[in-house]
Amino acid sequence: MTLRTTLTQGISRSLSDLQRWPILGYWLRWRHARTSAQVVLLMLALLLLYDGFFGPPLAPKNYAGVLPWVHWRGLVVLALLFAGNLFCFACPFLLPRRLAQRLFQPRRAWPRWLLPGKWLALLLLVLFFWAYEAFDLWASPLLTAWVIIAYFVAAFLIDGFFRGAAFCKHVCPIGQFNFLGSLASPTVVSVRDPTVCTRCTTKDCIRGRFAATGQLIQRGCELGLFQPRKVGNLDCTFCLDCVHACPVNNVTVQLRVPVLAEIDPTANRSGIGRLSTRPDWMLLVLGLTALGFLNAFGMVSPIYRLLQWLSQTLHITNEAVLLAFLFATGIGMLGVAAVLAGVVTSLLADARPLWWGFQRFVYSLAPLGFGMWTAHYLFHFLTGALTIVPLTQSFILDTLGYPLLGWPAWQLASLLTIDKVNDLVLLVLALGFFGSTLWALVLARQLHLQFKAILPWLVLLVGLFLFGVWLLSQPMEMRGTLLG
Ligand code: SF4
Ligand code: SF4
Repeated sequence: MTLRTTLTQGISRSLSDLQRWPILGYWLRWRHARTSAQVVLLMLALLLLYDGFFGPPLAPKNYAGVLPWVHWRGLVVLALLFAGNLFCFACPFLLPRRLAQRLFQPRRAWPRWLLPGKWLALLLLVLFFWAYEAFDLWASPLLTAWVIIAYFVAAFLIDGFFRGAAFCKHVCPIGQFNFLGSLASPTVVSVRDPTVCTRCTTKDCIRGRFAATGQLIQRGCELGLFQPRKVGNLDCTFCLDCVHACPVNNVTVQLRVPVLAEIDPTANRSGIGRLSTRPDWMLLVLGLTALGFLNAFGMVSPIYRLLQWLSQTLHITNEAVLLAFLFATGIGMLGVAAVLAGVVTSLLADARPLWWGFQRFVYSLAPLGFGMWTAHYLFHFLTGALTIVPLTQSFILDTLGYPLLGWPAWQLASLLTIDKVNDLVLLVLALGFFGSTLWALVLARQLHLQFKAILPWLVLLVGLFLFGVWLLSQPMEMRGTLLG
């Protein structure tokens, strides 16, 4: 190997290893990096609770009506796209749960009757997005504050009762969204040198590190991801416990090409197994993709005409029931389409059982589903981000009684003109479509399939993409701003 090759490899290794970056690397190596980020978000959560319970009831004039629904959601998808799972890393709900673990020292495993895996989280996701539309959560700071309280209480109780990170792994709907979104992330927590792990006798990255007295001094991976066999980002909260636990500093945060490492559903993933044998993960991808389109559909005017028509046809006037019907139908339709695509793929590939095609290709929906979520959330973020300025001016005015930061400039809302926002969100959706198409093509190549075998999936992806383009070209409600 020439000196030049050695130098090039060394430089590229240093660049891709975020812990070797100046400042950022130092912070990531700091044992309290996560806690410091969590404390910042905890402060914000407390501010939301205060304003949600005691502030103005009009959503655009209340932190609880704006920060979670405009800023937080926009920043979550931006972070997933450009950095990684930063919001699981900085999750404030886990601070009280740490207290619960200390107080109760739970030893019980998550029981079978509580649906291990992603079933419960999927159910909660569907319930949450149905409730979001049915009870207009985005328009009620008070309800938003109660949702935040429910989150804190649930994380405290569940992790006070069950060992490990039961709340993150089996329950948290936001976490599941982040796990799937992080398929598109440019970073991953992984080992620097796999050969070092083959010589390792302690496996502290998963067991945790103990003092001579037997006391735990650093947690290992509570999500059950064993670093040398970890594949990609699924189920990884970016907590960095494994980074701090590894005694030879062999775990780091690395840059990577998004999506590519995640495509093979038959890869044996530590803590997860083979995705092709996990119906809960399959339905999670399917459900989140359908919900991405349904949630955006809830913001455009055709939904009101559809609900009116449904109401007259079914003779049901209760909007919550109609929305439940709409959600069930939407998810069911995508489910039937994906199962049919899978069956046709199995037949064309001469593979059995007929379930085979669905088990392998359903995951290719993930980038397009995430593209739809991102397009939708970015729309609200880009059209409402500046609301933070008058909101803060108004908060200070109400709290202090005089306009320390000036009188609220309520005309401030958009970061970009609406035309630019519309172009940008279409581009994001197109990127998701590109990611899904690439996924299906690469997987077909890995499985040595002919092009015709994946045609049903390409047709499904094109259909969803066109539906998304239609959705994004409809005037969308400007929720979270006084223009809405
Ligand atoms: S990551 Fe560290 S602790 Fe885990 S197996 Fe490798 S060397 Fe051992
Ligand atoms: S692998 Fe486990 S311990 Fe490491 S960052 Fe991910 S969730 Fe945390």
